[in-house]
Amino acid sequence: MPTPRSPHAPGHRAARLTVVDPATGEAFDEAPDQRPEELDQVIARAQRAWHGWRADPAARAVALRACADAVETADDDLARLLTREQGKPLAESYAEVARTAARLRYFADLAPRTRRLDDGRPMRSEVTWRPVGPVAAIVPWNFPLQLAAAKFAPAFAAGNAVVLKPSPHTPLATRLLGSVLAAVLPEGVLTVVTGREPLGARLAAHPGIRHVTFTGSVPTGRAVARAASATLARVTLELGGNDAAVLLDDVDVDRIADRLFWAAFRNCGQVCMAVKRVYAPARIHAEVVEALAQRAKSVAVGSGLDPGTRIGPVSNAPQLGRVARVTRQALAAGARAAAGGHRLDGAGFFFAPTILTDVPPDSRVVTGEQFGPVLPVLPYQNLDEAVEAANGTGYGLGGSVWGTDLDRAEAVAERLECGTAWINHHAELSLAQPFAGVKDSGVGVAGGPWGLYGNLRPFVVHRPPEVEA
Ligand code: NAD
Repeated sequence: MPTPRSPHAPGHRAARLTVVDPATGEAFDEAPDQRPEELDQVIARAQRAWHGWRADPAARAVALRACADAVETADDDLARLLTREQGKPLAESYAEVARTAARLRYFADLAPRTRRLDDGRPMRSEVTWRPVGPVAAIVPWNFPLQLAAAKFAPAFAAGNAVVLKPSPHTPLATRLLGSVLAAVLPEGVLTVVTGREPLGARLAAHPGIRHVTFTGSVPTGRAVARAASATLARVTLELGGNDAAVLLDDVDVDRIADRLFWAAFRNCGQVCMAVKRVYAPARIHAEVVEALAQRAKSVAVGSGLDPGTRIGPVSNAPQLGRVARVTRQALAAGARAAAGGHRLDGAGFFFAPTILTDVPPDSRVVTGEQFGPVLPVLPYQNLDEAVEAANGTGYGLGGSVWGTDLDRAEAVAERLECGTAWINHHAELSLAQPFAGVKDSGVGVAGGPWGLYGNLRPFVVHRPPEVEA
């Protein structure tokens, strides 16, 4: 038997990640499958870059604006590649690229405030802010570009260099983004690394990293926190969600049905803060199910590259398997599919947009995160029960309340245990807002000035009064 050649031996072809188009189920490209040992060099380069980059806030602001311009100039290539590897409709990819540029521009204009402490002493005590040090950004496959920018834009504004690791399912658009930005940023300020595990685990544990900012699932988030505990690097974790939409008895179903449907099915339901459960008053439950099912049956599902498509495929084969499994379990436990409920025939990872009714409340599709085009609609008899059920999972990312009387809806929204609540909307975020989950949905705060300070540490100088000196 021939001796297997060492993967590091000269002449060995570097390992590659195969990238699959979810609309066809076929491989269409590759990316480097980098070895964790390569991180030493990458992080050493980030540390060298950091010293120059942190020194000049005005130059950084100019660079961030140039980054935004460069992203906009490359929007056609970025959006097409994103749709190809992730599956989302092209219009959603363009929106993601635009949001990436907007985030860079937003943070270009944000700088930390120096503060004099007002503590009654004659001593002058001044708080200034310093960048924490090289940042590791680890992101999932549902919004590869937008979530990457949510991490690197505030890190750059704070004066940090970033090592960015996308999901092995979606490495390509991120690599392209990395090369677009490399033309504008000083060398080593942003490095994109791609590969299978344990690349992410080793990045999170690397002693040269001072902040690990992670977006992904709860179990991986816990693993990242454990890995970063070895170096006591700061961690920011944006994790899963199981957002509830609570409909009130004065809701105008016709008026809100489109908005509610898209709050659950945008990006094929693969949104951390999508509506993942609907609670409707028993009196109007059938009407709500019917309004949503009618939309689920008639929406155009297809390749994201087809201009008419509104819902693309599930983004990858393992996720399709998870979505099919939780749906099957709910149906086996007595749920009924008012629309969909099954995989679509043919190539690609397509799952019929699904509305479930008669769902046992202890089904995984209610208690966990389906992260796909499946929505359970549950009836309630009294509002306290609905609020208790909405708050009754381990998650706490977002939530929404839908009704005609806005004051009453807001009073109910105040009772939701989550980081962001909406009234008659869901999942619309401002770049200026703090974004944080409670319970298993996260640790730390991203977004707005809070995101900037998440990448900074305070530095305090105490200076005596002139007479004493
Ligand atoms: P995931 O947790 O499997 O992977 C996320 C990233 O972590 C990927 O880059 C992956 O390669 C990497 N990774 C895997 N194992 C690792 C380890 N041991 N150490 C370090 N990194 C590791 O998540 P996913 O399946 O890619 O994405 C879906 C999840 O992301 C859902 O749970 C969704 O709710 C969540 N999400 C949350 C938010 C938010 O802002 N709260 C936003 C988008 C997605």
